[in-house]
Amino acid sequence: MSAQKIKYEAKGFSLKIVAWLISIFAIAISGLLIFSMVNISTKTEQVNAATRDYITMKSAANDVQLASDDLTNDVRLFVANADIKYMDSYFFEANKTQRRDKALETIHELTENTSVHEVVHTSIETAVNESNNLMNLEFYAMKLICVDQSIPYSDYDEKNQVIVVDVSAVAPENRKTEALNAVFGEEYMESKATIISNVDEAIKVIDELMANNIDKNEANLRRLIIFQSIVILVNVIFMAGVVILMHVYIIAPMTAAVRALFNNEEVNVRSNKEFNYLSSIYNRIHRSNEDIKDSLKYEAEHDKLTGLFNRTGYDRVYKSLTLDKAIYVLLDIDKFKEVNDTLGHEMGDKVLVRTANVIKKYFNDENSYLFRIGGDEFAIIVNNAGAEMNDIIVEKCKKMDDEISRAEGNIPGTTLSIGVAHGTVRDTTDTLFRKADAALYKIKNAGRADVSLYK
Ligand code: GH3
Ligand code: MG
Repeated sequence: MSAQKIKYEAKGFSLKIVAWLISIFAIAISGLLIFSMVNISTKTEQVNAATRDYITMKSAANDVQLASDDLTNDVRLFVANADIKYMDSYFFEANKTQRRDKALETIHELTENTSVHEVVHTSIETAVNESNNLMNLEFYAMKLICVDQSIPYSDYDEKNQVIVVDVSAVAPENRKTEALNAVFGEEYMESKATIISNVDEAIKVIDELMANNIDKNEANLRRLIIFQSIVILVNVIFMAGVVILMHVYIIAPMTAAVRALFNNEEVNVRSNKEFNYLSSIYNRIHRSNEDIKDSLKYEAEHDKLTGLFNRTGYDRVYKSLTLDKAIYVLLDIDKFKEVNDTLGHEMGDKVLVRTANVIKKYFNDENSYLFRIGGDEFAIIVNNAGAEMNDIIVEKCKKMDDEISRAEGNIPGTTLSIGVAHGTVRDTTDTLFRKADAALYKIKNAGRADVSLYK
């Protein structure tokens, strides 16, 4: 047999949809975080690379100036001292170290793709060209000294740059003065000034470019960091929302539901759609279970024929009462066997039902518990009753007996023998019963159809 599908409309939001939304949002926010992190690291790398380039450019520009100055120093010292080591140093810079050419090459490489850097390249190129032009004066000066001092210069002048210079026009006594003029004269100084101003211009532009670049990148980075901070803030709010959602809509209702289950109660918490569905199903099953339990308990404790408590019910209820505040009334139908024997068992049943109904009619208050404890034997226990109630109860019983003694329709009248006993603090359920029983048998022995109060 397949289980019947229960149709049920659960209220509340769907946890499944919320879980999907949370997942989508989490993926989106993670994507944004990764995007901004990659962006920041790329931007930082770009800033670093650009800064490195500017430093390299600046150092190259400085190299041009330093190399030019070294050449000047070497040539001037050579002219002044005629010491060959200065010429050696000069040609080492000019032909081996070649700082100016290398610097120009570096700057060319770093500036060829960007038009904004072109001015740097142009200035350095002008400075290097000027420095190269200046070398003609320097070769001229060196040649004059070499000729004057008979210094062999071909070993140092690998490229024959000095050798080819013609100094024959200068008179021997003027050679040194002419050489000093060449490297300290106005033309030389103007040329040096051009080199310095071009290098300075390049360095100034490099500094400006570096500052601009730093400003621009700083602004970019700041924007990216603000963006990332916003994403992180949104993420934190989102996470807090998820945690609150989890506590309010999952953990709290779950805990309450578990507590309710533990206490065998209904789950009265409202939450998401799925939870509401499960708790409604549980409540429905719980209610039907309780109903079944109640009806089983009722059936177990009640007499089917009369509807009064049966022996099982009697045992439970009687034990739960305070006996010194209880009046025990024991009733037995007189000569009931004769009804069965003469009018049949069915009529006997009707007499039993009628007797029970009359008892219910007379003892219908909440303090009265009514039992059928044997075949034709009934008991009434009036709870919360003081001794002053004894006579009232006895009177009630007499009236009841009187009513039952009259026939009702085809149901014959029967009489009742009734024993009444009031409980004391010393009484047990057994002794109180025995007292009522003794009072009842006194009536049976005295001829039946009466009420006796145990004294
Ligand atoms: P007494 O006046 O001394 O009480 O005499 P009695 O005939 O009433 O005797 P007793 O109380 O001992 O008889 C009870 C009878 O009740 C015996 C039994 O056959 C009958 N009885 C028990 N249960 C039922 C029942 O459920 N239906 C019917 N019709 N009779 C029952
Ligand atoms: Mg009887």
